[in-house]
Amino acid sequence: MKVLIADDDQISRKVVRALLVKWGFEAVEAADGDQAWQILQEDDAPRLVLADWMMPGMDGPELCRCLREKSESSYHYIILLTSRDSKEDIVDGLNAGADDYITKPFMPQELEVRLRIGARILELQQSLQEALELQRYQAQHDPLTGILNHGEILRILEQELERSCRQNSDLAIIMGDLDHFKKVNDTYGHVAGDAVLVEVAQRIKNNIRLYDAAGRYGGEEFLLVLPGCSEEEALQIGRRILNNIEQQAIKFQDNNIAVTISLGLTCFKTGEQTNVSSLVQQADNALYKAKQNGRNRMEIY
Ligand code: GH3
Ligand code: MG
Ligand code: MG
Repeated sequence: MKVLIADDDQISRKVVRALLVKWGFEAVEAADGDQAWQILQEDDAPRLVLADWMMPGMDGPELCRCLREKSESSYHYIILLTSRDSKEDIVDGLNAGADDYITKPFMPQELEVRLRIGARILELQQSLQEALELQRYQAQHDPLTGILNHGEILRILEQELERSCRQNSDLAIIMGDLDHFKKVNDTYGHVAGDAVLVEVAQRIKNNIRLYDAAGRYGGEEFLLVLPGCSEEEALQIGRRILNNIEQQAIKFQDNNIAVTISLGLTCFKTGEQTNVSSLVQQADNALYKAKQNGRNRMEIY
């Protein structure tokens, strides 16, 4: 683990660096508080900080205050190194946001155990952070296809609809449903059916723009939210998806599985009073029309 040593005294830095390296840490040096602050802004900066109290420019407590003010998801564990040892000084240092302090001259073993406590807390924080991110990802994505799930795509639609109303901008949505998908399951089995869903989701994603969103609305149904998209642009995207799915059969084990999809498009008209459910209903009605009119096609509401 990287440790930032912020100290204006070069000899002290050298001594601490040698100890850190001996204990298996990676040492990064800063010759004063300002340089320390700069290093801490970099990507992949150390999160364990050993800061001298008195330094030119930003001093140790000031560095603590600045780090705490910066609302970041990753935590910095700060140990203040100080020759001040009055109770008031210690309270001030901890109040400024330090996690711990060591008074100089220090015993190397003490520094080591205090650094290990910091490293342990940072590792714990990191694993909690990762668990939280995984949980957030899982709450928003469909486990089979990896695209957004029902709840998340509707949340995005709600957000984009609000934006379109506010900015008077275009918004198109497309509802898609695989044609005769039950037959795919009946003919090739459900595992093959799952593989088809994964591939179709991927092809849909490949044919939309970066700022569009694709979600699995239900079993073999997909909902696309296309912000800033005119009817003509949405038709183009829809046609690309239809062609891409129709023209290349999906390989699964020894089978080439030919599938098609039907699409229903609706566009939000600026100034119109509407809501998420009526937009979805409109796209659904257009989809129904596409099914009625022979499938493997797109209809507009
Ligand atoms: P249509 O063209 O009218 O849409 O016909 P369809 O057969 O696609 O429609 P239907 O609603 O009759 O059947 C949908 C099928 O989708 C039935 C269901 O078993 C299948 N399905 C839904 N979710 C999954 C899934 O996660 N995996 C697999 N393999 N199949 C699924
Ligand atoms: Mg279907
Ligand atoms: Mg369906």
